[in-house]
Amino acid sequence: MERTLIILKPDSLQRGLVGKIITRFEEKGLQIVGLKQVLITEELAAQHYAPHKGKPFYDRLVRFMTSSPVIVLALQGNGVIEIARKMMGATFGFKADPGTIRGDFAVSSSFNLIHGSDSPESAQVELALWFKPEELHSYDLANRVWTYDFSNGTPM
Ligand code: UDP
Ligand code: MG
Repeated sequence: MERTLIILKPDSLQRGLVGKIITRFEEKGLQIVGLKQVLITEELAAQHYAPHKGKPFYDRLVRFMTSSPVIVLALQGNGVIEIARKMMGATFGFKADPGTIRGDFAVSSSFNLIHGSDSPESAQVELALWFKPEELHSYDLANRVWTYDFSNGTPM
């Protein structure tokens, strides 16, 4: 099954929204396969946001992401990359639709609570950047046969 990297940014912790956000993913049926708290170094922030280097918001973004600890999550599920991006909502809090995490809890263009990998390629790169192999867990959830339809042998 597919995996994605989620970061609950410093504003999620400072605003006490970590539990609410993680609950949304759990309730959706996505499986947590990695989770830790990290105070990001400038080097890690630069690696993670390398595709944005040179953009006008880049320096502020690195300062923001290194200003206070974050929670990093690896989520697993069928189509999890796209599902998590939909649940996050549009980048700018003030534009994100109600019902999404950013739409319900954020108004800022930069302090937007959450990062999620945007493609299978970036998920692979980001998971390897943030988690050691032994920090990612493969295990069956007891309720998996009620979360997915396994009647054909594969999860539907
Ligand atoms: N960002 C910003 N100003 C912008 C665009 C982006 O401050 O005009 C910040 C914002 O925190 C965003 C991050 O940079 O989440 C990465 O931008 P990206 O376009 O990848 O948005 P995302 O994938 O997070 O929705
Ligand atoms: Mg992005």
